[in-house]
Amino acid sequence: MLKAILFDLDDTLLDWRGFNQEWPSFEQQFLRRTFDYIGQVASPLADFDAFVTEFRYRTREAWQSGRGNLIAPNLGTILLETAEVLGAARGVLTAEGCLTAYEWGAVPGTVIFPGVPETLTTIRQHGIETAIVTNASQPMWLRDQELKQHGIFDYFPKCRVSAADAGYLKPHPAIFEHTLKQLGIKPDEAVFVGDNPIADIAGAQAFGMQAVLRVSTPVPPMLSGLIVPDAAINGLPELLPILDGWYPGWRN
Ligand SMILES: [Mg+2]
Repeated sequence: MLKAILFDLDDTLLDWRGFNQEWPSFEQQFLRRTFDYIGQVASPLADFDAFVTEFRYRTREAWQSGRGNLIAPNLGTILLETAEVLGAARGVLTAEGCLTAYEWGAVPGTVIFPGVPETLTTIRQHGIETAIVTNASQPMWLRDQELKQHGIFDYFPKCRVSAADAGYLKPHPAIFEHTLKQLGIKPDEAVFVGDNPIADIAGAQAFGMQAVLRVSTPVPPMLSGLIVPDAAINGLPELLPILDGWYPGWRN
């Protein structure tokens, strides 16, 4: 019996194609606010450029090792460690404080894909829970601001999981386990929808869920035939007829 649909966030619900800036220069504004916060709360750091360089180095390292061991990078930890390694007094700052100052929100140029709110409304109207599972390094409370600004926060009242919260990146089973535990359901009661063949499709299937590929970018040829989604869609509204086929009567 279908009880919940789990969605990846980036490039599944949220369209990043309109974001056309260089990430390092775009990110400076967030890092500047955290840098200023550190100066106010702990001790002023000498050099913003050194802060940025150290932050980037630590971020790169965290993602590089994360790709191997699937331990999730955590933006709050990285900011805190960057501050402390550059001389901020230990025990004064918190990861939460660094992240609050970072002040993440909806990124200019990003939009919710067409048909997303309507599809989520239909699913929820029929008593099926909806959840988000994202490979983000930001804790979910920070990305919640972004969901609110995009107007989709209320579609996920019960369960929103970021890798930073779960401790592991998709496709590691721990993040799927963490999510289904929050929902109180079993894998065969959930469908996963995502755009990444390895993280979303292979990960969800290995955990016992049906997985729907949201086709947003061409699938690398080397994966073709190795990872086979249970269904593929070009837009979220196409999910509804697939559910009709898999779970006749789910709308009753
Ligand atoms: Mg994605």
